[in-house]
Amino acid sequence: MPVIAGAGRFCGGGLKQGARWPTLAFAIIVFWHRPNDPPQPPRFDMHELSLCQGIIDILETEASKQHFVRVRKVRLLVGPLAGVDREALRFGFDAVSRDTIAQGAELEFIDTPGLAWCFACDRTVEIDQYYDPCPGCGGHRLKVTGGEEFRILDLEVE
Ligand SMILES: [Zn+2]
Repeated sequence: MPVIAGAGRFCGGGLKQGARWPTLAFAIIVFWHRPNDPPQPPRFDMHELSLCQGIIDILETEASKQHFVRVRKVRLLVGPLAGVDREALRFGFDAVSRDTIAQGAELEFIDTPGLAWCFACDRTVEIDQYYDPCPGCGGHRLKVTGGEEFRILDLEVE
């Protein structure tokens, strides 16, 4: 049982012979509340989870409007500045879509470029993340103009 194993590890070398139940219970509580527990791979992020729930909501709404019963594929437009962890999103989607019309549906990501207007170069340049310098002049006087999008592009349904 993992809890007991964890409690043993926490105590460093296993529980002493004759440890009383309150001691054991305390160890278990401390184990559960350890703040630095490493996240279990794959990461299951609340942000991605709520995005997945949002996608499912849209799919359900569209399904009742357009009369389809199953979603085979969802193509998502994602910019590099959208702050979306794709692996976490895939993982979250698999979990959230269970017992819905999108169960087993494939997620496909369509990349959009990260774009910014450089005031020094007086032109649009491409960036990979926020606070990147301008690839042309190395300056930081940039205004992001694209790459923050995250939306459903289209669906494959039946
Ligand atoms: Zn520039």
